[in-house]
Amino acid sequence: IMKFSNRTAQITPSATIKVSSKAKQMIRNGIDVINLGIGEPDFATPTAIADAAIDAIHSGKTSFYTPASGLLTLKQAIVERTQRDYGVVYTTDQISVTNGAKTALYVLMQVLINPGDEVLLPKPSWVSYQQQVYLADGQPVMVDTDRNFKITPDLLEQAYTSRSKVLVINSPQNPTGTLYSKNELRAIGNWAVDHNLVIVTDDIYGKLIYNNNRFYSPVQFEGRISEATIMVNGISKAYSMTGWRIGYIAGPQELIQRVNSLLSHMTGNPAAVSQYAAIAALQSDQQAVSRMRQAFEKRLNTIYPLLQKVPGFEITQKPQGALYLFPKVAVAMKMVGVTSSAQLVERLLNEAHVAVVDGAAFGLPGYIRLSYAASLTDLKTAVTRINGFMNHYL
Ligand code: PLP
Repeated sequence: IMKFSNRTAQITPSATIKVSSKAKQMIRNGIDVINLGIGEPDFATPTAIADAAIDAIHSGKTSFYTPASGLLTLKQAIVERTQRDYGVVYTTDQISVTNGAKTALYVLMQVLINPGDEVLLPKPSWVSYQQQVYLADGQPVMVDTDRNFKITPDLLEQAYTSRSKVLVINSPQNPTGTLYSKNELRAIGNWAVDHNLVIVTDDIYGKLIYNNNRFYSPVQFEGRISEATIMVNGISKAYSMTGWRIGYIAGPQELIQRVNSLLSHMTGNPAAVSQYAAIAALQSDQQAVSRMRQAFEKRLNTIYPLLQKVPGFEITQKPQGALYLFPKVAVAMKMVGVTSSAQLVERLLNEAHVAVVDGAAFGLPGYIRLSYAASLTDLKTAVTRINGFMNHYL
């Protein structure tokens, strides 16, 4: 009988991946399930990007290891993209390329956290932050948010202890679509610097902003806030490239050196083909990004009012970015006669054939997350099904 590590004893599979694989299994079994479980843009990777990867294969650029932290040309493309999008200038030795933003965040926790150190996370936030902190022997601390799901200096102050070391900001935020304004970020940033925290800003949804809202990142402040900030970014969401697995870190050279050493033992380089595709993505004219962004905006604007009308569902704040809606379902749970949002999620999957994720996975039970990275037709059908399901209990 095998014995396993204590470290991994409490790790549960990612709830979003779990619900999504169950939905995919049901679909394989011939059940017509609509999968709103995962943040996976449904567009094909733009052809020019895919072609760059095919060229890399045919020109023999795949039979060698690249540097573990990525090709220099990719780092240059990241530097240029960041300069254009953010107006912030990094050098290539401040960049590390990883297997998706997920690995970037994992590695950062390994490099930043000592046993018992606390990482402040918004409640709710992305499922993997908590588990990645545990895997670094750290302690995740879920910070209460205001009615718009935002952390504030006051709420941070309540969660802070002398062991607090890192603050994760994710704007726009998964699972709520919350976007922080420049002033809000300045207040949070100043508070974090006053408390000697490292800020990790997860900007993975930074290009998916809707209805004329404006994205701002803490790395854009001059001086002490940006100096305390590490940026995580990636191409999965904005370029519809989830399967290619490219993300990156931008931060102080000293940090990047540690990250690179760790990566050299952990993953080695991300797939060379994917890196060539990423260069093409970042250097492209960004028109594909803007087309997809517009499509998501249309979906949000279509599905948001429909979902608001579903009996028992409450959404107080219209999402401003990312790919998700996060309705409160306390009333719906009462109507259906279930005691947890997990049970409601089960019922929606088995009876309405719509896959969504339990808010508990993000630290906030009593809510569910729906991804609108699906076609307009599927989204409308999904809401019709959920509506039909809830109408049984009126
Ligand atoms: N950060 C957030 C907030 C996410 O929602 C996700 C993906 O769902 C990631 C990071 C990871 O993205 P990647 O595909 O680059 O690993």
